[in-house]
Amino acid sequence: MVCITIDTGGLRAAYLFTRSIMGFRLSDQSPDLQAAVADPTVGLVYSPTNRVYIVPDLQPQNLPRRQSFPPTKRRVCPGHTISFCPFTGAYLPGSVDEIRDNILEEEMGLGHLFPDIVFDARIGPRSMRGEQWWLKRGIGETVNKEELEEDKTQPPFHSYDPIDHRFPGYRRCQEEPPHFCYSLGFVFDDARVMYWYLPHTREYGFRIIDPEQRVDFQPIRILPAPYCPWCGTRLPSSLRTQWEERVRNRGLDPDDLVASHPPPEGWPEELTTSAWWKNEGL
Ligand SMILES: [Zn+2]
Ligand SMILES: [Zn+2]
Repeated sequence: MVCITIDTGGLRAAYLFTRSIMGFRLSDQSPDLQAAVADPTVGLVYSPTNRVYIVPDLQPQNLPRRQSFPPTKRRVCPGHTISFCPFTGAYLPGSVDEIRDNILEEEMGLGHLFPDIVFDARIGPRSMRGEQWWLKRGIGETVNKEELEEDKTQPPFHSYDPIDHRFPGYRRCQEEPPHFCYSLGFVFDDARVMYWYLPHTREYGFRIIDPEQRVDFQPIRILPAPYCPWCGTRLPSSLRTQWEERVRNRGLDPDDLVASHPPPEGWPEELTTSAWWKNEGL
């Protein structure tokens, strides 16, 4: 083992600028990220035109499909843009939204088509759609690494206090998750954002949604991912295997908890919360 004395300020700066993106196109990203956005039921979508990865905001009492989830050729659902690959922790290349708006307005003189042109891809020139326009123009990273690093030092924007939503498909857990950062303050404060924390398995991830049904009564299922999409921090490890083992040892079926609000009869409370793994010191 080699010991070197270093100035921590320098190390921090070096780390900040060497941690790089995996590439610009979707095909450059991790296979897990590509698979997640390709799956029309996963609450994570990609907009090639804007080069953004979005966790959709889905409204209660509305079909997800009517809110452009999954996205169509014409429309991308509104939601929260993520900054890091949730499967590798790498920076994503960053949005080209503002650059595109500028080109449309200044260079192409299409100012009169705003704001519709932002939301509807049928409006405006074909040459400004998909990944091609920003690849052709060689638009590099737009991610603001200094700002993201700065966010990491901030307390959560809102304290953890999710509303007890009247629809079970929107209910978040009442206990504060072990990783809770500045940006997650916004996310967990808004029931519509399809990113969830499950206390019993200690997993964070994207909701799995049937686009043909309102979220209101959908079971809380997620595609777990090991990194925080907003700050890139490695999240505590998933305890799904251990949890399922303890559930089965009691003669219960892990699948029963997913669809049930509140937990089904006969379930010990500690297996429906973080209590079991906290008690075991995991
Ligand atoms: Zn939102
Ligand atoms: Zn975070």
